[in-house]
Amino acid sequence: MKKSLFASFMMLVSLAAYAQPQVVAHRGYWKTEGSAQNSVTSMELAAKHKLYGCEFDVWQTSDGVLVCNHDGVIDGIRIEDVPYAKVQYCKMSNGELMPTVAQYLREGAKYPNLKMVFEIKTHKNDERNASVVDNVIRLVRELGVQNQVEYIAFSKFICERLHKLDPQAKVAYLNGNLSPKEVKALGLSGIDYNHSVFKKNPSWLKEAKECGLEVNVWTVNGEQALKEHAANPYIDLITTDDPIVLKKILKGGKKNKEGKGKDGKKNKKNKKNK
Ligand code: MG
Repeated sequence: MKKSLFASFMMLVSLAAYAQPQVVAHRGYWKTEGSAQNSVTSMELAAKHKLYGCEFDVWQTSDGVLVCNHDGVIDGIRIEDVPYAKVQYCKMSNGELMPTVAQYLREGAKYPNLKMVFEIKTHKNDERNASVVDNVIRLVRELGVQNQVEYIAFSKFICERLHKLDPQAKVAYLNGNLSPKEVKALGLSGIDYNHSVFKKNPSWLKEAKECGLEVNVWTVNGEQALKEHAANPYIDLITTDDPIVLKKILKGGKKNKEGKGKDGKKNKKNKKNK
């Protein structure tokens, strides 16, 4: 009883200190000229716009090279079935070569304030999934970017293995079929669920906070939906294809709250931001 009262009190304290949600660019900041999903350019743009994080998707070739691409297939080739030599010249839609994860992380390391939200895709079996996780953890350690990397995955197996190999790492479960308590019991740090999951299970937001889990919601697009999610005190991170729209909403929210701009003058732009 005492314990649950204490947990509720702590939750109230943390909500009272409610900070605005962080902005995560879904597959990087790609909705702009010259960019493309999962390209190095999209990551650099996320950093230049001072976003909290840049989400990207990872597959592994049959010879163990990790590459960034959303789909498992590029130019008609199933990435996990072929050696890297077969896909090394495949291009993203902006003409950039599909980056290896090593290239992506090396470039990302130049922007230490940017979090790289690393989605490991579910491969054909758990033997393969285990090999991917082992190679990911090894590479991240080799490059010394542990503090910049946060992991997400749909596969419970992948999440558990990530947590086992690097207990300090942030690992959030994506699949939406486990309650916050169940995710907490796995030892993971957060849930990263589609917005529809929270609509179906509205109590999960509060439950996640009570468990001490971080809450990320995806993929929230469009001004109205972003405004609604930005105002929800239970949400820590919002993953969006419209990161600059969200950034503006959050900036406007701050000004609206205080009624003043940074310079202390009354905020005349509020009306425009609505
Ligand atoms: Mg993804």
